[in-house]
Amino acid sequence: MRHTTFRFAFAPTAEQSRMFVRYSGASRFAYNQCLQLVTDALAARKADPSATVPWSGFDLIKALNRWKTSESAGRVFVVAPDGTTTKQVTGLSWRTQISAQVFEEAAVDLGRGLARYAQRSGRRVGFPRRKRKGHGRDSFRLRNKDASGRGGIRIGEGHPRSVTLPKIGTVRVHEDTRRLRWMLRPVKNLDVRTGRAVVGSPARVLSATVTRRANRWYVHLNIEAADLHPSRRHRQPSQGQVRRFVGIDRGLAAFAVVACSNGAEVCRFTAPRPLTRRHGRLRQRSRAFSRTRRGSRNRTKAVRALAREHHRIANIRRSFLHEVSSQLAQTHSGLAVEDLPVANLIRNRHLARAITDAAWAEFARQLRYKTAWRGGELVVCDRWFPSTKTCSVCGRVVEQLALRTRTFHCGACGLVMDRDRNAAANLAAWAERATIKTARVPDRQAGGWVTHAPGGEGAGHRFCGGETGPREGGTNAPASAGVKDTREGWRLTTSKRPVDAL
Ligand SMILES: [Zn+2]
Repeated sequence: MRHTTFRFAFAPTAEQSRMFVRYSGASRFAYNQCLQLVTDALAARKADPSATVPWSGFDLIKALNRWKTSESAGRVFVVAPDGTTTKQVTGLSWRTQISAQVFEEAAVDLGRGLARYAQRSGRRVGFPRRKRKGHGRDSFRLRNKDASGRGGIRIGEGHPRSVTLPKIGTVRVHEDTRRLRWMLRPVKNLDVRTGRAVVGSPARVLSATVTRRANRWYVHLNIEAADLHPSRRHRQPSQGQVRRFVGIDRGLAAFAVVACSNGAEVCRFTAPRPLTRRHGRLRQRSRAFSRTRRGSRNRTKAVRALAREHHRIANIRRSFLHEVSSQLAQTHSGLAVEDLPVANLIRNRHLARAITDAAWAEFARQLRYKTAWRGGELVVCDRWFPSTKTCSVCGRVVEQLALRTRTFHCGACGLVMDRDRNAAANLAAWAERATIKTARVPDRQAGGWVTHAPGGEGAGHRFCGGETGPREGGTNAPASAGVKDTREGWRLTTSKRPVDAL
């Protein structure tokens, strides 16, 4: 089983757009109301420790459903002709106009937020805050409750380019849906247990999230699909065979340089750098926006223009990252990347924009799940391994390498090589060494086999077949001593890492 997402841009009618706005509003309302129930319950518990606080998504759904029909959600006073007034509890008056799933999914989202907040380990997360209209993204989610029946989420019904959502109806999309329809088609299969032929589809839609980005509505369809066909997966290395790796050096001069452990360059990608390129236009739009008066029509227009520009930048970046990561995951079964502390790196304000524009972390995330789908392996090298400063032939570690030095010169063996290619070769060699040594552990997040190789001893150098290494050669061993010292040095001067690592 693997999970994947299909994204389509909606082409809704005016009526459908209004419906999307209403649904997003309902989702936001339900989220905020759940949050209110939680804060009220927390306050009540201060006075009475036995009071229960709804915390999980399930409890929140129950609490919200109770509230929806309660007096505090809605009531009317009915005046009889004789002047007597009676109170009538109506509950939330518009609750039936919106699919109940929207409420439930909003409650589930808050439950997740609360769980993250209560979690002790990992990054600290604050208490969930109320969602404000106009802040953050308009969105809502619908689960596919009735996957096979008529009430579920269907693709290509009525028109090939359409998505049908429960209670909303058939909405046209801009893109071709053929690939998804092909995945969802019913096929005849043999049931392993009974041996009888059954008809079922190899994939199913789990949920649909409708989101507004700039001036467009998108639908993200969350799909659970069968594993890729063996012919589209990499063959596993047989007993005694070692998986070959290519190293991927992410950088700013070139987005990624891919090389084998012997130093041969496989390919090199140049990033479109949409933010850097369109930065002028972005500034112009922001300035135009800040000159408009609050509440004016021109302000609304300026906001739209600015949002469109941001959205375009994000789209260019997204499509490039997917293209590169797919290509790499398809063509190579072993990939090695360095463990980049991106959060630390962007503290350097001269490089922050360029680094953000490159989206290295997102690239690694895509590589991770795509290699898992194809039965490949992604190795994240040890953070303290000086891939840039090590000679990929003799293993000597040079002291300093300024960012503008684009060529690596080795003083010991005389190697002259492109800086990024040298780093990529080192990463590949490191991964090949590490996979021999380390036990493999299943990575739950990646949903596959991923080697989290710890930094082994002697990281950073490798002797080519037939050659004598500096240690064996009786020299004053610059490699082994140097590596160790440098690694200690890294630990002490973490803040200096940004410039060196690129
Ligand atoms: Zn060398």
